[in-house]
Amino acid sequence: MIRAKVNKIIDSSVVDGPGNRTAIFFQGCNFNCKYCHNPETINHCVNCLKCVDKCPSKALTVVDGKVLWNKDNCINCDNCIKVCTFNASPKIQNLSVDELLSHIKRNIPFIKGITTSGGECTLQKDFLIELFKETRKLGLSNFLDSNGSIRFSDYPELMEYTDAVMLDIKSIDKDEHIELTSKSNEIVLENAKYLASIGKLFEIRTVVIDDYLDNRKTVYEITNMLREYQKIKEIRYKIIRYRHFGVREEFSHMKAPSEEEMNNLKDIANKNGFANVLLV
Ligand code: SF4
Ligand code: SF4
Repeated sequence: MIRAKVNKIIDSSVVDGPGNRTAIFFQGCNFNCKYCHNPETINHCVNCLKCVDKCPSKALTVVDGKVLWNKDNCINCDNCIKVCTFNASPKIQNLSVDELLSHIKRNIPFIKGITTSGGECTLQKDFLIELFKETRKLGLSNFLDSNGSIRFSDYPELMEYTDAVMLDIKSIDKDEHIELTSKSNEIVLENAKYLASIGKLFEIRTVVIDDYLDNRKTVYEITNMLREYQKIKEIRYKIIRYRHFGVREEFSHMKAPSEEEMNNLKDIANKNGFANVLLV
């Protein structure tokens, strides 16, 4: 039976796509972004067991050399995450599609759909396909929040059951993207155009940082690259001001752009045909 490692489920979210949605955050990511706000979602636990005796409420035990999390005992103090040096978390549920589905079903009267996020949810794409088939039968829409690192056009079944994608474009410049995330952006940009061409690019997002990224070039070139697709389906651009909350200590010195600069970036996007720009 197919299972996926789930870091967190938010039963009702209004910031993870249109309407009220259940957001599911999968564990594991293939990028290592310097401004990552949830670095504990990047890697899978290697069972070093260092966190076990740091838990004040006996929510962590060791079974056959592996750390086991007891959700009911956990008080969410995050001591375990603070001591983990592997960018991992012991607070993971290894769920089957049926188990996750029965959780989602409890929210059905209140939600329009689900959004899978992460980490990078598409790294567990076979699970997503099975999950999306079932949620669609329930009349829910399937949104996917992704770093764009897998080539979506290679997975037609995933695309068939995905209603729309929210895609991070962290930088338009390849070298800047590698410096920021540790990976190239070639597939990301290819995905942006592919998704826009089939009307499934709901939103693109860029985190902007002062004195580190070329924000104006990024916003100009991304919107210029995608402007021709706006006539297929309107794409929203969410420009996110860097925040140091939750970021690893070594990257917490980065600076947020001023209010004025955020508005300059919005103007650039507007002029390139993006009417729906959200500054957050
Ligand atoms: S977050 Fe939960 S599992 Fe982690 S240390 Fe605190 S109580 Fe224990
Ligand atoms: S979560 Fe981190 S500290 Fe805890 S056992 Fe796993 S790798 Fe070790």
